[in-house]
Amino acid sequence: MYRGRIAPTPTGLLHLGHARTFALAAQQARAANGTLILRIEDLDAARCQPHFTTNAIEDLKWLGINWQEGPDIGGPHAPYLQSQRLPWFNEAWKKLHASGQIYPCDKSRQDVERALVAPHAEDDAEPIFPPSLRPALSTGRNATAPGKTNWRFRVPDGETISFIDQIEGPQSFTAGKDFGDLLIWRKDGMPSYEMAVVADDHAMGITHVVRGADLLKSTARQILLYRAFKWEIPQWSHAPLVNDASGQRLSKRAAGLSIQELRHKGLTPAEILTAPIDTLISK
Ligand code: GLU
Repeated sequence: MYRGRIAPTPTGLLHLGHARTFALAAQQARAANGTLILRIEDLDAARCQPHFTTNAIEDLKWLGINWQEGPDIGGPHAPYLQSQRLPWFNEAWKKLHASGQIYPCDKSRQDVERALVAPHAEDDAEPIFPPSLRPALSTGRNATAPGKTNWRFRVPDGETISFIDQIEGPQSFTAGKDFGDLLIWRKDGMPSYEMAVVADDHAMGITHVVRGADLLKSTARQILLYRAFKWEIPQWSHAPLVNDASGQRLSKRAAGLSIQELRHKGLTPAEILTAPIDTLISK
């Protein structure tokens, strides 16, 4: 049975790129006679705001994107706001801890930068965590809760993680080269994005993940977490990012095309979801 999800982060208004990816997720779920879940990824308390959740729900409804389980209608996997799911994330931390593949990490971003031989590529916001900064293997083994510290997942250096994306085709990323030990828990008491998304996709029985192609590398990281948890891996579809005619990513434009803005300009849901991007920008 197909179970998909749309998972906005309420740090801003939904834009055209989100809308098209979410519409694709809804279309696939409908075609498979499956269930679509709306999950709000509001773990970053400093950047997320409740009114963006309300806006997202309004925009999605106006666009005709329908879900069958979510914060506004409930369902067997409630709550659907990640900020309310901390008991589950703590349980998931325990499972991951039992795998022996995570360790507490007190290194700051500056420590990481200092230990790097070469500066990291500019387009990759997260520098690769150098193995020289890993603590001894047994560090943190006796912990029973994450506490007030960062925790990282030790990646298998040199191992290539491959998967077939339903849209983008075969993908391969090498642990230790394309990404390093990933943060799975933050010292503010919250799980990292990678940890929360895997824990929730599993808990909610997600069989198909449809999301933006900016998360392809994250998928390789998440596959490592699935393996450590010994959970079944879903199917992946990464939708191409929406660019304007000059190739600039829409989410990066100063005047990001928010759904609200386009709606106020008089565009219809069908135009927003299907018209060539440049005709929308010039309106
Ligand atoms: N919440 C993430 C975002 O808005 C998407 C996470 C996912 O689909 O895995 O970028």
